[in-house]
Amino acid sequence: MKELVLPLPDEAATVALGTTLAKACDRASVIYLYGDLGAGKTTFSRGFLQALGHRGNVKSPTYTLVEPYALQPLAVYHFDLYRLADPEELEFMGIRDYFAQDAICLVEWPQQGTGVLPEPDLALHLRYQGEGREAQIEAISAYGSQLLDRIHGSQG
Ligand code: ADP
Ligand code: MG
Repeated sequence: MKELVLPLPDEAATVALGTTLAKACDRASVIYLYGDLGAGKTTFSRGFLQALGHRGNVKSPTYTLVEPYALQPLAVYHFDLYRLADPEELEFMGIRDYFAQDAICLVEWPQQGTGVLPEPDLALHLRYQGEGREAQIEAISAYGSQLLDRIHGSQG
């Protein structure tokens, strides 16, 4: 499956999508998170991280750019590139090491890292829709396409 569009009527639905995707990911993967401020990128990430056992709050790492989470079965790196001035800064912070690891990378504002970030497996686009949101999930890699199949199956 190449693309899936899901209504997210409330915050709980955004968290649940994060949970579903976290449970589907069984190997290193890269997920780009697109959407305006307040669209739900961090909310999604919280659902994702909590599904893998993270307890507690999840803040967008706006100033540190990346927050590591040592989770099982895979570590998760949560990026927020909103304040990145130049994609070259990513080279200085050793971006390739993060993406070379056996880990899941969630990237808010990936358009800020164009040319330096690796291609994702999935691109999640969150959009305002009435009081809620809509998710458009796009498979970029073959693995991303498998993930979409799994998510689709688990939504019934
Ligand atoms: P971003 O990281 O994209 O800037 P956040 O996740 O920090 O956005 O904030 C999203 C805000 O919208 C939060 O206040 C959250 O409660 C709310 N929210 C998240 N998902 C939904 C949804 N599906 N419908 C309505 N409100 C939502
Ligand atoms: Mg955020």
